[in-house]
Amino acid sequence: MVDHAYLDSDRTQYISVLQALVEDHNIRYFCPNPRCDAYLYICQTDGNRNGYFAANRKLHRHIEYCPYSSGDATIADLYVEPEFDYKKAILKIETRVPYRPSRQTEDRRIGIQATSNISCRQPTTVRELYTLCKQHLPNEEFNNSKFGEILFDERSEDMHSNGPSGQMLVEAVKKPWFFENEGHKIFLKTATTHPYKLNIRVPDYRIYSQFKDTIFHNQDSKIVLAGTWTLGSDGTYSSLKINRKSQYLFLHHQKSTQECVRSQTAGFR
Ligand SMILES: [Zn+2]
Repeated sequence: MVDHAYLDSDRTQYISVLQALVEDHNIRYFCPNPRCDAYLYICQTDGNRNGYFAANRKLHRHIEYCPYSSGDATIADLYVEPEFDYKKAILKIETRVPYRPSRQTEDRRIGIQATSNISCRQPTTVRELYTLCKQHLPNEEFNNSKFGEILFDERSEDMHSNGPSGQMLVEAVKKPWFFENEGHKIFLKTATTHPYKLNIRVPDYRIYSQFKDTIFHNQDSKIVLAGTWTLGSDGTYSSLKINRKSQYLFLHHQKSTQECVRSQTAGFR
């Protein structure tokens, strides 16, 4: 379920749900993810104006891990309370304390739930925050912030002239030479038209070696990283410290040889 799509496979002609609802419902649209070849059709949940785009044709589903696929949280099932603060949510992803809404907001959420069919779930993981951002345009407002401030990707790079800084999600790709065992360093770049260098430090050796191994086995995958970014002293790069595995997400994750062996062994038992 998606709230916008494109008329053309080059993704130049944007169309919103409201625009598409008044068009012929047999028109085929394209998934906003350029890597995904899903065909989207407008659907209406009831007689009113509510609608969404769905990949409801068997042969043209979303690719695996497409951020727009219905297996993930969508705007329809992800209710974001007015006080929700993405910076705090990202800080919680970096630290060990899981994000839980306060009791007071919990009560209010139940009140809201009673009056609408929206199930109240907070975006608390990198995947949920990323999906939420991808379902909106960078300039759209979100509790006085713009989605483009939360996620640094090719659509929002112009909003950040110095590169990623502060609490945000960054879409990254691997560089040809991507690690340095001394100091547990990983070198990536933003997945944007004008790439910024990203210097990642992973103090915990086990997390470092697993992250490095997964990059090695997923060389073509985009990696979404969440945390507090610091601009480099000479302005040519941004740095991030990874404390937890939950700070990164591989969008096209293939299992590493180690993981395959592990799951095969599990199958024999
Ligand atoms: Zn898709």
